[in-house]
Amino acid sequence: MKITKIFTFDSSHMLDGHDGKCRNLHGHTYKLEITVSDGLIQGGAKDGMVMDFADLKTIVQAEIINPFDHAFIYHGGNERESQIAALLDGWQMKTLRLPCRTTAENMAALMYGRLKNAGLNVCSVKLWETPTSCAEYEG
Ligand SMILES: [Zn+2]
Repeated sequence: MKITKIFTFDSSHMLDGHDGKCRNLHGHTYKLEITVSDGLIQGGAKDGMVMDFADLKTIVQAEIINPFDHAFIYHGGNERESQIAALLDGWQMKTLRLPCRTTAENMAALMYGRLKNAGLNVCSVKLWETPTSCAEYEG
């Protein structure tokens, strides 16, 4: 059985070296679909559930929404993106360093790993960068 919960968050980013407009600093209202797969809980307060949606929300908030929302997310291995992040850090503005280029594909894979490490039986992470463009990572 699978359950899915949808979240949104706003982040700014850039893809340094991109051959189109994504090389510029810009933002997205990302939509995030987290799917969890497991058997149904038998008995007790959570009887008949894969997991409580409220518990799913708590984990996704802590692992993804809180660090990513209203942050400048950047590739720590990129010099120009790191320079912008250092400037923002100096002004006490929110940044988040990632070990990869901030494509929707890389971010979906990274979020999957974070949730897995947090103990979630995550099945897939679908990250919408725009209303018509998404990347899905299935473990
Ligand atoms: Zn973008």
